[in-house]
Amino acid sequence: MSQRILVLLLITTITYGQKQMAITIDDLPTVSKAYNTPETQQALTQRLLTHLRTYQVPAIGFVIGSFLQTDNKPNPNKLKLLSMWLDAGLELGNHTFAHKDYNLVSFETMKADVIGGEQAVKKWMEERGKSLRYFRHPYLRRGDTPEKKDSLEAFLKHRGYREAPVTIDNSDWLFSRAYDHALLLGDTALVNSIGQQYVRYMGDCVAYYEAQSDSLFGRPIPQTLLIHANSINADFLGALLAQLKQRGYTFVSLDQALTDSAYSSEDHFCKKGGISWLHRWALTQGKKGTFFNGEPEVPTAIDELANRKL
Ligand SMILES: [Zn+2]
Repeated sequence: MSQRILVLLLITTITYGQKQMAITIDDLPTVSKAYNTPETQQALTQRLLTHLRTYQVPAIGFVIGSFLQTDNKPNPNKLKLLSMWLDAGLELGNHTFAHKDYNLVSFETMKADVIGGEQAVKKWMEERGKSLRYFRHPYLRRGDTPEKKDSLEAFLKHRGYREAPVTIDNSDWLFSRAYDHALLLGDTALVNSIGQQYVRYMGDCVAYYEAQSDSLFGRPIPQTLLIHANSINADFLGALLAQLKQRGYTFVSLDQALTDSAYSSEDHFCKKGGISWLHRWALTQGKKGTFFNGEPEVPTAIDELANRKL
C-alpha cells in the first residue's frame, strides 16, 4: 500500500470515527410537575448542569420567556436559574414568550411571541455581555403554509436569529411526564424503571436518525439532539451522555455542528408536523414511505402513566 493511500485511509478513519453531537435543551428554566418549588427547581437545574459539566458538553438552552415571570413580573427565583446556566458558561436562545403553536396562530401572533420571548430574556443576557443568537420553534413548527413559513423565516433572519434545527427528535417530554407521576406516587422502583427505559429508548432514537442521515447524505453528519429541562434529564442525562460517548460521540456546540454543509440542505416542508430536520430534508428530496419506517415508539405503559390524571 502506498504511503498516500495509507494517509488517506487514516484521515477517513479519523473523520468518520468521530461522531459529533450538539445537545440542545428546551423549555428553560425548568419544565416539571414534580419539581415545582424554588428549591427543587434549583436542584433540577444544578443536576442538569453537573451532568453537562461532567461530560464537557457545550450545550445551548432555549428559554420560554413567560416561565421567568409570575403575575407579569420577573420572578427572582426563576432568574436565579437562568444565572446558573450563564455562570456555567452555556449559551441561551429564544424559545418565544408563551410557547405558541404556529399551526394555531397567525404570523403576526407568532412574531409578537418571538419578540415577547426576546424582551423577557435579552436584558438578563446583555447584563452578562451575551446576546440571543438562536431561535427554537415551539413544537418544531416552522409554518404550515408556504406563506407562514417564509414570513417567519424572513422575520427571524431580519431580527438577527439563526434557526436552531433538530435532527434527533424524540419524546423525552412524555417519558418525563410519566417519570414525574412516578415520583409523585412515591414509587421508587417505577421511577428507576422509567429512567432505564428512557436511556434505552434514546439510544434507539439516535440509532434510527443516524441510519437516516447516513442514507440521506452518504456519510455521518454532526447531529443535533433535542431534550428538555425536565425531571428525567435531571436524573438520567448523565447515563444518556455516557451512552452517547460509548457510541463514539464527542459533544460540540450548536455553532460547530451547523458548520456542516448538511445544514444548508433545502427544506420545503410546510405541513402541520413538527418533525426532525432530517425528515424535512428527506421529504424535500422526495423520499417516501419506507425511508421513514422504524421510528422508535414510546412504550404503551409510559404513555398511559404520562396521561394518567393524578
Ligand atoms: Zn418547547
